[in-house]
Amino acid sequence: MSETKKSHKILDFDVIKIRNDFPVLNQKIYGKPLIYFDNAATTQKPRVVIDVINKLLSEHNSNVHRGVHYLSDQMTEMYESARKKVQNFLNAKHAHEIIFTKGVTDSINAVAFSFGELLVKENDEIIISEMEHHSNIVPWQMLCKRKGAGLRVIPFNDRGELLLDEYKKLINSKTKLVAIVHASNSLGTVNPVKKIVAIAHENNIPVLIDGAQAIQHESVNVQDMDCDFYAFSGHKIYGPTGTGILYGKERWLREMPPYQGGGDMIEQVTFEHTTYDDLPAKFEAGTPNYIGAIGLGVVLDYLTNIGLDNIKNYEKKLLNYGMAKLTVINGLKLYGTARNKTCIFSFLLDDIHSYDVGMFLDRMGIAVRTGHFCTQPLWDHYKVEGAVRASLAFYNTFEEIDSLCEALKEIQKMFS
Ligand code: PMP
Repeated sequence: MSETKKSHKILDFDVIKIRNDFPVLNQKIYGKPLIYFDNAATTQKPRVVIDVINKLLSEHNSNVHRGVHYLSDQMTEMYESARKKVQNFLNAKHAHEIIFTKGVTDSINAVAFSFGELLVKENDEIIISEMEHHSNIVPWQMLCKRKGAGLRVIPFNDRGELLLDEYKKLINSKTKLVAIVHASNSLGTVNPVKKIVAIAHENNIPVLIDGAQAIQHESVNVQDMDCDFYAFSGHKIYGPTGTGILYGKERWLREMPPYQGGGDMIEQVTFEHTTYDDLPAKFEAGTPNYIGAIGLGVVLDYLTNIGLDNIKNYEKKLLNYGMAKLTVINGLKLYGTARNKTCIFSFLLDDIHSYDVGMFLDRMGIAVRTGHFCTQPLWDHYKVEGAVRASLAFYNTFEEIDSLCEALKEIQKMFS
């Protein structure tokens, strides 16, 4: 057992203390302690989030922006202060560059529609990559279909790293936008987004980054990255479901038309004509998920207090430990061996179907995901239908990785 593994407390990071913040982790499944390795699908919620939602619903509930009364004012203030927390977390220049959405999917669809209306026309091109989640493929395909435009795809090598030379070759005068995942949900690859943005900007092309699997592992600085849009989901960063963020540079958000009409996004409505409200309201039609947004703000404070660097260091140790242990299991094939990656292990075991592996792991108390993880074109690259995925978070432990490895060896014995 390595020194690092023996110690629950690495630097300033006490995983036992952290686990106590997440009530759901403290339970047994089929009589076995729960090992929750499905964090790329959704993350668990710390008590501060559960408590604030309970408190808001019990004591403060009222719709935002519309009331003259005390509760509505109070809720509006908390909602807008959550926006500022997101601004600080991303280091965005302005709070009005932060749009609350339902999640990454909603954010990308908003850009695909609004940016598409503004700038995309027949024969134009959108560049995505071979490792995108369906959420960063289908909205662009729909846009291309509407406008008669085309999709271009950056390939990756077998380790799961994007081929930047191929990317450069795809750029031309017809390219209108580049939309790339920051960290792959299937392979864990962390893409060199700053470089990808710089290459696009040399050609005056804006870039959208899908941050669904990066925001909880990396510290993201949108001004330094210089991306034009950045999207993430609250539920993947230990926050409430049904919350999400679209960051957009002021310049684009001002130019783009709204993608939904309704209450709260207007300045003046007549039957002949409507004028729209200023940012960010222009992109937030209808009653927002203000309780969720405030919960998201609370979790960002919680993570900032722990320290994103501490989280990253600890997860890196989990990653190295897991890679070392899994790669020596005979018959286990890992997918995603990029030099820069998050703590995601996708693999196939002998010729056992991924679904069977997942089912047996479940009976041992280990929650993983199986299948294509909404990245079917990515698996076409490897000529398989999908895999088993163990995706870790900062509340997972070295011992849980040991248990996974032991469980996989048992499954192999059962099938041999
Ligand atoms: N992009 C990536 C990389 C993802 O992992 C996911 C969720 N699996 C999404 C987009 C979509 O996120 P949501 O379902 O929260 O909108």
